[in-house]
Amino acid sequence: MLSTLKAGAEQLGVPLSDEMAAKQLRLLDELDEWNQRMNLTAIRERGQQITKHLLDSLSVVAHLDGSRVIDIGTGAGFPGLPLAIVLPDVHFTLLDSTAKKLKFIDHVCTALQISNVETVHTRAEAFRPKERYDCVVSRAVGPVETFVKWSGHLCVGGGRLLAMKGRYPTDEVQKLPNGWKLAAVHRLTIPGLDEERHLVEICRSHDKV
Ligand code: SAM
Repeated sequence: MLSTLKAGAEQLGVPLSDEMAAKQLRLLDELDEWNQRMNLTAIRERGQQITKHLLDSLSVVAHLDGSRVIDIGTGAGFPGLPLAIVLPDVHFTLLDSTAKKLKFIDHVCTALQISNVETVHTRAEAFRPKERYDCVVSRAVGPVETFVKWSGHLCVGGGRLLAMKGRYPTDEVQKLPNGWKLAAVHRLTIPGLDEERHLVEICRSHDKV
């Protein structure tokens, strides 16, 4: 499993140190353990977890920039936790409206000594941080236009909203709220996954693409 993870990450352009790879796999061990008590993920087979949770999360590394990133509707910490492990100098806020999932994330951060993550329990649309974010990322949290409506205020001027999607969301990207425009849609290839993945990149209408 370690070699599958390392080879996949390498293919994504995210070479993992031994320590980073070990932390990614320990994250899955903790997920399995907590999953016996609460429903954190339906993906229980280790190979699938590596592909659909770890590598899928790491596929957006190349599209992140800046020193502050927020993951909206992070659930059990995806994509935020795998990203925080490989980008220790970036501050990650992992936000969700369900407290029990954030307890899991807090536990993992303590157990794995991940110090660049804070969790926030609230709805995205209600969150008013002291400092806004360079990148606002989200996976599997509804249509793109809803994500922008809920989370646009969290993004710095010149920052980006990044929605991780399966198939190209043709209809959704045509309904962006006023003040926002499509910067790009990136086709992502996840090693070992025979499914489509796209990353929708959105910026303010007045920003240069
Ligand atoms: N991003 C994770 C993943 O891909 O595995 C979890 C996706 S799960 C389908 C959607 C998550 O979004 C849930 O954990 C839910 O509690 C959270 N959520 C839904 N609406 C939200 C809102 N308005 N603000 C914050 N979190 C929200």
